Amino acid sequence: MPALKPITIVGGGLAGLTLGIGLRQQGIPVTVWEAGHYPRHRVCGEFISGRGQDVLAQLGLRESFFQAGAVLARTAAFYLGQTSSPVRPLPTPALCLSRFAMDALLAKHFRESGGELRENARWQEGGFSEGIVRANGRRLQPREDGCGWFGLKVHAGNVSLAADLEMHGSQTGYVGFCRLKDGEVNVCGLFRRPATRPDGPQPWRDLLRGRPGTPLRERLAGAVFDESSFCSVAGFSLRPHRAAAQRECCLGDALTMIPPVTGNGMSMAFEAAGMAIGPLAAYSRGESSWSRAQENMAVACDCAFARRLAWARWLQWMMFTPLLRGCLGSVALHSEWLWLTMFTRTR
Ligand SMILES: Cc1cc2nc3c(=O)[nH]c(=O)nc-3n(C[C@H](O)[C@H](O)[C@H](O)COP(=O)(O)OP(=O)(O)OC[C@H]3O[C@@H](n4cnc5c(N)ncnc54)[C@H](O)[C@@H]3O)c2cc1C
Repeated sequence: MPALKPITIVGGGLAGLTLGIGLRQQGIPVTVWEAGHYPRHRVCGEFISGRGQDVLAQLGLRESFFQAGAVLARTAAFYLGQTSSPVRPLPTPALCLSRFAMDALLAKHFRESGGELRENARWQEGGFSEGIVRANGRRLQPREDGCGWFGLKVHAGNVSLAADLEMHGSQTGYVGFCRLKDGEVNVCGLFRRPATRPDGPQPWRDLLRGRPGTPLRERLAGAVFDESSFCSVAGFSLRPHRAAAQRECCLGDALTMIPPVTGNGMSMAFEAAGMAIGPLAAYSRGESSWSRAQENMAVACDCAFARRLAWARWLQWMMFTPLLRGCLGSVALHSEWLWLTMFTRTR
């Protein structure tokens, strides 16, 4: 039998590690380069909603998420300023686990399966040629449509919620809450800053707390923030990208980012990794060329993601448009049809 060709994965986040684990389960030699280390906090709402949970189950990882402290979110509520939706059951529960635990857990599984994980090792060689997968997360995009996006995340105690997941929209962004284990709550916000406003130090507590008199402000009135969990990220693109248009073999956020309001980004990272295992294993065994493997992955990703990315753009627009403040917003938030359509179409 010819020797198996090795696969190099740049980026030991969710997409890279999941792919690495899947390939190791097929006996493929894999090296993952990770610029950071484990465990560490990441900017993320920390709830997995969508088909990615099936990929975790297929790879035998879902149970270990629960052992690491994952909890299920079963209800959700949306708030736009003063207006709120009813608390609704999620058609499918979301899996909630801190990224501090999740990334470290996947790294442990990858190592135990015989993968080589290079921590604190930034890939600096130019280009992503044959045998190299780009899973290094969001691409830098300082401005988009005249604005810059930035995200903040912190864990907090003493936050009382009406639903397991809450999303609070405002003019400049939205703040989500997600119940984690032991009464801890993930507080995560996505904001946009007009290009005309200079980048200065932002008081993150003020940004997350929102305006006085809003339900958001009430939620965080007595919050006790775990300062060590605070992290931020800026300068990324939320515009959809097609896999077939990429020259490189990309997965997860390196391929395209879905607006975080959907809570589907992690799911897409797991799903893309799941879809890449077969084509890359075939390449490694010499059954397919690199370009064929890349093409098969791209077709699968575009088929799975194109429609939901388009719907997610609508949802993102709804969270920001002034048209949905007031009566129209109340109608939208109370529409069962809109809720179910947006939920099912964005995952
Ligand atoms: C504000 C916000 C809230 C979000 N909330 C949610 C949510 O609630 N639910 C959800 O499902 N998704 C959410 N997401 C999206 C989710 O976090 C991402 O989709 C997911 O992390 C993508 O995984 P990934 O593996 O592609 O990238 P990452 O998890 O970012 O991993 C990429 C890795 O590559 C490494 N790397 C980068 N460059 C190099 C290099 N040159 N060499 C080596 N390593 C490198 C990085 O250190 C990193 O560890 C949110 C995103 C934002 C911005």
